[in-house]
Amino acid sequence: MKIVRDLDVKGKRVLVRVDFNVPLKDGEIRDDNRMVAALPTIKELLNKGASVILFSHLGKIKHKDGEEAIKEGKTKNNMQYLVDHLASLLPGVNVSFCNDLRGKSLKETVSALKPGEVLLMQNTRYEAGEQKNDPELAKEWASLADAYVMDAFGTSHRKHASTYGVPEILKAQGKPVALGFLVEKEVQALSRCVDVKDEDRPYVAILGGLKVSDKIQVIDSLLKKCDKILIGGAMTYTFKKALGEDVGISPVEDDQLDYARRCLEEADGKIILPVDNIVTDAFKDWTIKKVSKEIGPGLEGMDIGPETIKLFQEELKGAKMVFWNGPMGVFEQSDFAAGTIAVAEAIANLPDAFTVIGGGDSAAAAAQFGFKDDFSHVSTGGGASLEMIETDGKLPGIEVIRD
Ligand code: ADP
Ligand code: MG
Repeated sequence: MKIVRDLDVKGKRVLVRVDFNVPLKDGEIRDDNRMVAALPTIKELLNKGASVILFSHLGKIKHKDGEEAIKEGKTKNNMQYLVDHLASLLPGVNVSFCNDLRGKSLKETVSALKPGEVLLMQNTRYEAGEQKNDPELAKEWASLADAYVMDAFGTSHRKHASTYGVPEILKAQGKPVALGFLVEKEVQALSRCVDVKDEDRPYVAILGGLKVSDKIQVIDSLLKKCDKILIGGAMTYTFKKALGEDVGISPVEDDQLDYARRCLEEADGKIILPVDNIVTDAFKDWTIKKVSKEIGPGLEGMDIGPETIKLFQEELKGAKMVFWNGPMGVFEQSDFAAGTIAVAEAIANLPDAFTVIGGGDSAAAAAQFGFKDDFSHVSTGGGASLEMIETDGKLPGIEVIRD
């Protein structure tokens, strides 16, 4: 697999798929981590004398919901909001913006680009064909460039025009395609969690968070790779219900109950579920907040309990590799943060383990509680890092770069 450092692109136009899907509020950037993470690749290409065309998606645009919804999505997720900040991150570099994603004016703007200059294109999702990997759209974007670099790890599990169609076409034309430095780093770290070596055992995975339907399928793969899987967060209740427990008003994926039951059978003791929980009458008036082994009617589980914290700390002792995705509770509220803090701390304090966080909210929690720097790798892609494990390291946006 070629990496951006291997490319000879002096005087060439290079199309770079970055992940500039930053959180915005009223057009203000709330967190520029993803932009900063793309800078090494951009600078490398500029130093090599290339002109750089950047393209990325930004937020969601609901093309199926009619004109009003599309207009609203476009106003909210206009890539133009990022131009000035990008320019400030690249002092001395001429950074411009092109609102057109197709047609003559885009072509002319790209042709006028000089070596050492950067052009940021409009949000790729303004085009309905982006997420459908529309071949005409991919062809038009591919025609802009002499080479392509994939540096958007967070969307590398998607087969979209910008992540898959474009490099596929350029590769077929014999033009160079490569991975950027950010994706290279992600692949190196996450491959270790996929192809597990003996020296990385015991290997413990910790799953939590809220997006159960996205995450529960990864358990199958993790059962084959890990020595233990600790489950917290909202996923707990689907498993508890599968075991016949009354989980009250806790979130449950009812269509996953059979799958959860099967996982528990096949796990042969590898899956560790919470033994107690912090429960509330959340949607009433918060009069109840207590530790409870069972959840029970009318109540909702919000965090793992103190016995579970001890159990998880015990299970983590001696671990040589840890993959963590998803907070243990509703950590945004201090009453329900103890489980997430304890788990983050226990992982952070492992003396010589390789430790990975693969989820946006888990990474935010680790940062908020001051443990982020203690992890070996914090992935920029939650969904992508899970799919990397699920697919044994074969993400379409990365595989397409392979020679
Ligand atoms: P990540 O971004 O790390 O992959 P998710 O997006 O799946 O994690 O989930 C994060 C959210 O899960 C947090 O906002 C947290 O409040 C929520 N959460 C965790 N535990 C529970 C629970 N028991 N009930 C409801 N929400 C929960
Ligand atoms: Mg999340």
